[in-house]
Amino acid sequence: MSEAVPDLFAEVSVFSALDKTLHYRVPAGLSERASAGMRVLVPLSGRSAVGVIVAVSGNAPDLVDSGIEFKPILALLDSRPIFSRDLIDLFRWISGYYFYPLGEVFQTALPAGAANPPKVFFRLTSSGKEKAGDAESGLLQCFAGREKVSPAEVAGQSSTPANVKRRLRDLEAKGLIERFYEWRSALPGPRIKKIVRLLSDPDPELCGQNENLKALTGLLGKAEPGLALSFIRQQVKNADYWVRKLCKQGFAAVVEEVDVREFQCAQTLPFEPPPELTPDQQAVFDAVLPAIVRPAFEPFMLFGVTGSGKTEIYLRLVAETLKQGRGALVLVPEIGLSTQLEALFRRRFASCLALWHSAIPVGARHDQWQEIVKGAKTIVLGARSAVFMPVRDLGLIVVDEEHDSSYKQDDHLRYHARDVALMRARLLGIPIVLGSATPSLQTVHLAKLGRCRPLSLPARILDRPLPELEIVDMRRESSQSRVLSYRLRNALTETLAAGDQALLFLNRRGFAACYVCSVCGAVLQCGSCSVSMTYHKREKMLRCHYCGKEEAVPERCPACDHTSLFPLGFGTERVEAEVRHLLPDARIVRIDRDSVDHPKALVESLNAIRRRDADVLIGTQMVGKGHDFPDITLVGVVNADMSLQFPDFRAGETTVQLLMQVAGRAGRGEKPGRVVLQTYNQFHYTIECVSALDYRRFCDIELESREKLQYPPFTRFMKFLVTSGDEGTTERAARRLAAICRDEAESIRDAGRHVAVLGPSAAPLVKLKNRFRWHVFAKAWASRDLQDFTEAVISRAKADPAMKRAQIAVDRDPMMSM
Ligand code: ADP
Ligand code: ZN
Repeated sequence: MSEAVPDLFAEVSVFSALDKTLHYRVPAGLSERASAGMRVLVPLSGRSAVGVIVAVSGNAPDLVDSGIEFKPILALLDSRPIFSRDLIDLFRWISGYYFYPLGEVFQTALPAGAANPPKVFFRLTSSGKEKAGDAESGLLQCFAGREKVSPAEVAGQSSTPANVKRRLRDLEAKGLIERFYEWRSALPGPRIKKIVRLLSDPDPELCGQNENLKALTGLLGKAEPGLALSFIRQQVKNADYWVRKLCKQGFAAVVEEVDVREFQCAQTLPFEPPPELTPDQQAVFDAVLPAIVRPAFEPFMLFGVTGSGKTEIYLRLVAETLKQGRGALVLVPEIGLSTQLEALFRRRFASCLALWHSAIPVGARHDQWQEIVKGAKTIVLGARSAVFMPVRDLGLIVVDEEHDSSYKQDDHLRYHARDVALMRARLLGIPIVLGSATPSLQTVHLAKLGRCRPLSLPARILDRPLPELEIVDMRRESSQSRVLSYRLRNALTETLAAGDQALLFLNRRGFAACYVCSVCGAVLQCGSCSVSMTYHKREKMLRCHYCGKEEAVPERCPACDHTSLFPLGFGTERVEAEVRHLLPDARIVRIDRDSVDHPKALVESLNAIRRRDADVLIGTQMVGKGHDFPDITLVGVVNADMSLQFPDFRAGETTVQLLMQVAGRAGRGEKPGRVVLQTYNQFHYTIECVSALDYRRFCDIELESREKLQYPPFTRFMKFLVTSGDEGTTERAARRLAAICRDEAESIRDAGRHVAVLGPSAAPLVKLKNRFRWHVFAKAWASRDLQDFTEAVISRAKADPAMKRAQIAVDRDPMMSM
């Protein structure tokens, strides 16, 4: 049977690990509505699968000539596109750049459940409704008087459930029933609220003259669009009775509305008019404004010391964007940080704001997402994955603390949200503001090249001084002062005596770093990961911080069988114990992943500090960044060197950023701040730059050294991570992969393209959750070279028998070499 070539084709990205998009025919019935950005149901190897239309075209794809039959789309699942064209372009770019299947990129961008296959339901068509009354209508009777019926329900009511599927198809073909799709079951259903509306004033003859009734009609009379029944119940006694009565008599009506689930982390702030901008702030604002008004793609680096008032600028710029009738996207690195911004944004923008991060419950997430798609929420404030949110008519992107490494996802789709945001701004032609007190060297470098416009806020608001820094050389402390030096102990005592608050920062949780054998030197390690277990005193447990495994401390050393194990090193739990010992009356709050396992708990702890219900805050990097605690006057950095030892070329950068951020927590209110920094590397250039609070100098030194070593941002890196459950297999696969890489690098060299291959080597974390890990690095001077090189390597590796039993993940612009 030959069919005329239909005139519409859809290119569909199916939600699966497929490398390619697929083409389908758009059947005549759907061609009016089908457009790019809608979810569809398509046939795929005998099943039906969900995907997104990425393009609709009147031209037949090239393959048509080859005689391939294009299957038709089964159903359109959205009535209007959920992804705009530029977002589709962005996802295509992400898929190419990070070597990740397009369908899975879409999936990452959707809230949980929204990429699952929807449920099928049937309902009567108008001609079906006529027939359904007949006595011998059979199966049709199941549908009478019902809005929707699932195939399972039909089968349940049928005497011959076996061929229900076929019979439903028959009815459908006859045009008596039609199918439609819903996602309800995959998600908690929508929350319904009842709204009561007054239609006319009740007649006292019919309703009586009750006090409660009077209260009710008084309330309803004032509220034109009606009032929520739940609200009325709080205001009026016997509300349900009187509402029912009014409705029965026709004076009021109850309508059901979908209640949008909101999620608020932050406390509500009292209203305050926006402050007048300082001249520095005004200059920054004026520089960005034209790009918002036009709009035009323009990246800005907002380099503003801690406490210089960057947030107020974000608020103003977002307000300007809304004035232009467009939406805004504000990214923050962590949920803990978003709460403070959330409070400030809510105060200014109220219900236009949608929050987006992993801690929001599924139902609320789904509702928020839908509000964003609809354009009801025009501002999205969120962590990393908020960069994918389909904000309508996006007009501005802000990336706060743009240097933060948590913008990089380190599994599955290994994207960097700041880089994705830059690309999104570029595709849309809108401005993007990258804000930080310690901008990443990549951004600093871009600014030096003139590809990003530098703006700065060199001073704290109201000329508050930056804190004084004191360095303590820990090599000269006595053994009793390993954790808290004499100087830090004194400073703590003085601060609390003066009625102020202190923050102690240490980037390791737990009590002891590890357990060591004094006879053979063995360190107790996790059985599934190649890392030492951390001792947690309260639970009297050893815990692996990578896989979460817990064990009791053994009596004897597993290596030499002596009873000679002792704890070595320390974490936040130990610092807490020392402070308790030193200041028994102090109220202490500890914030790390052990003490705070939920964002609500984090917000509680942070609020306790702000309310001054605590004197000493002890925490890991969860407290180091961004927070504005006006009454903290002392910051103690317990071990400034910890992250310097990371086997990563960025170790220096991360250390300086972290320390300067932590130091920036001191003296943000009216009283000046003081920072005590304990270190074993007093003369290391990173520590020197921190103690001088001179970030620019650090950038100069570090960029010079990166250039000498040809590290990023002067080059681009790609990491190939090879993993498997077997040590030998992993190593063999990694060696083979490195050989392929070298061979490929060799073959493109003739074309003048240069890629250097490093490795293979066992990853520093060679075993993680029982999988062995090796890696190979590739370094290139041009992004394009790295792209083509990696493509070639991947396709060869896939075909190579030696790689069959191992998994390869590609990590572009990797952050850590762990
Ligand atoms: P940053 O994010 O740069 O570290 P913040 O935005 O937290 O700094 O601002 C520090 C403090 O200064 C906040 O308490 C904020 O309310 C206040 N602030 C910001 N701008 C102004 C202004 N123009 N006038 C007065 N206070 C301001
Ligand atoms: Zn482990």
